[in-house]
Amino acid sequence: MNSRYEVVIGLEVHVQLTTKTKIFCGCSKEFGQFPNSQTCPVCLGLPGALPVLSRQVVDDAIRAGLATNCQISPHSIFARKNYFYPDLPKGYQISQFELPICEHGWLDIETQESGKKRLGITRIHMEEDAGKLLHNDGGNSSVDLNRACTPLLEVVSEPDMRSSDEAIAYLKQLHQIVVYLGICDGNLDEGSFRCDANVSIRPWGQEELGTRAELKNLNSFRFIKQAIEYEVERQIDVIDAGEKVVQETRLFDPDAGVSRSMRGKEEAHDYRYFPDPDLLPLQVSDQWVEEVRQQLPEMPTAKRQRYQGEFGLPEYDAGVISAERPLTEYFEALVKIYDQPKICANWVMGDILGALKDKNLSIAQCPITPELLGGILQRIGDNTISGKIAKTVFEDVWKSGKTADQVIEEKGLKQVTDSGAIESIVDEIIAANPDQVAEYRGGKDKLMGFFVGQVMKASKGKANPGMANQLLKKKLAE
Ligand code: ADP
Ligand code: MG
Ligand code: ZN
Repeated sequence: MNSRYEVVIGLEVHVQLTTKTKIFCGCSKEFGQFPNSQTCPVCLGLPGALPVLSRQVVDDAIRAGLATNCQISPHSIFARKNYFYPDLPKGYQISQFELPICEHGWLDIETQESGKKRLGITRIHMEEDAGKLLHNDGGNSSVDLNRACTPLLEVVSEPDMRSSDEAIAYLKQLHQIVVYLGICDGNLDEGSFRCDANVSIRPWGQEELGTRAELKNLNSFRFIKQAIEYEVERQIDVIDAGEKVVQETRLFDPDAGVSRSMRGKEEAHDYRYFPDPDLLPLQVSDQWVEEVRQQLPEMPTAKRQRYQGEFGLPEYDAGVISAERPLTEYFEALVKIYDQPKICANWVMGDILGALKDKNLSIAQCPITPELLGGILQRIGDNTISGKIAKTVFEDVWKSGKTADQVIEEKGLKQVTDSGAIESIVDEIIAANPDQVAEYRGGKDKLMGFFVGQVMKASKGKANPGMANQLLKKKLAE
């Protein structure tokens, strides 16, 4: 925290939706197709073509609004944002301006420095994306309009963040929410979740906001943090040098770790917004909102609380497992099979996540299904195998896809709980280690660990450790 200046940050996030079709036409928006193969008169912007709003996009906007505590407007309007660029065939982008679909939301975040804090969301509106320019060798460029008309939600925050950490906490939570809702794939690299950061500083105690710079081209959480911190330092230097911060758009260069001015306020567009005469005002009834509300999945915060309450998980475990929806689905399916949530959580967070990380796989690609893992846990629970042998079984199940029972049967891994069998091993161990036996009997209790270890080794890990312990105690006391 700077002693002289307070940092003020407001974020604009573009969320690309996972709908099958575009926002105002039925074209597919599948990624990586042949240029301009997914176009029609509407998304090509041909004169006379009329846009038709996708209901799915409105549903998704309502979902995002409800999940971020927004009010859903019963009446909202599409507007034309006019500017010229070769990737925008109509010469305007259809967006929402004065009456967006969602307003007055908030998210609660927590950071180390400032603890719990509520951050305002000004608005969420729907809009279409532009196409893409391809810059070819030889200096000419071509236009691919496959992306034109792709549905976006723009989520605009209040200037409520006071540090890069708060900005990142907000973004991570928003990211988690849209991915949980299934409305966005959350891929920052590919631009499915894009953030512009507005940054200014002001002397402590000053009410009025300082002049802001808008940072663009931030495609990872790390770069966003870096870019904000660089910008704060830059503005402090400007003011300390007796100059004024100018309002401008800056482009972050991740390789150099610096940002450069892209355009100043003078070059900023005047978008001449006006309501789009081709689209009727959008009416969203209470009933529509309620229908969408009914279909909302349980959100991360609610899940985390339920895992702590209903399942008695520690806060840390509940946080790790609730972070990703596929992980929660895995965990919940597992608990249905093996009703010991803490044991399930240990295996999911330790063995499963560890192995997935090693092999660079996602939970969706996990070769051990909840059913298979549940099968292993059941065999530990009923003493068929020890916890130690279970690790071997786990590896085998991972590789072969066989059930725990099959692996245990085929490899003869069943735990020896026959006291006669263990007793004879115990006798052998005692006979083979007279020195240690004498020391133990002379009072060196610590040697019990050694004896148990020997029995486990002799039984190839299959002796029931509790029984081995008991028998050893009894025999050594004789
Ligand atoms: P524009 O439409 O020109 O981008 P907005 O007024 O809609 O401008 O603001 C965009 C974002 O910038 C919002 O997230 C807002 O909170 C933030 N913002 C506005 N003024 C400032 C400021 N002085 N310092 C930091 N953030 C700001
Ligand atoms: Mg802006
Ligand atoms: Zn189209």
